[in-house]
Amino acid sequence: MDGANKTNDATATCLFCKIAAGQVPATIVYRDDHAVAFRDLNPQAPTHVLVIPREHVPNATEAATAGVWEAVMAVAARVARQEGVHDRGYRLVVNCGPDAGQTVDHLHVHVLGGRAMAWPPG
Ligand code: AMP
Ligand code: ZN
Repeated sequence: MDGANKTNDATATCLFCKIAAGQVPATIVYRDDHAVAFRDLNPQAPTHVLVIPREHVPNATEAATAGVWEAVMAVAARVARQEGVHDRGYRLVVNCGPDAGQTVDHLHVHVLGGRAMAWPPG
């Protein structure tokens, strides 16, 4: 099986690929040719938005091309402004792998804001 087929298989079963394709409903707050941003189903802060690349990338380690990061981080900052959390501050989180608690194997940046947050994270 070549790389393209692997990507196609993942796309067919991946929840976030389906959200990006409009096959699973989500509250979309921003989209462009490279990335999609939608509200987290189980929000951990007054603003909790997930930003994903349209391209299926399983996690941060596999996000080898700079273009993927450029696309999602630019949208994350844009969403923070759109949500009005940019002045007081917000947190961008990328969980990668089991120790970090990653539960969906499609790269996503959490945009969390609207309340003060503790450090270190749990
Ligand atoms: P992580 O634990 O970093 O992999 O984050 C996955 C996030 O996806 C969690 O915060 C979930 O609440 C969120 N999530 C799971 N399914 C959906 C969905 N269908 N729509 C929106 N958010 C979702
Ligand atoms: Zn995917």
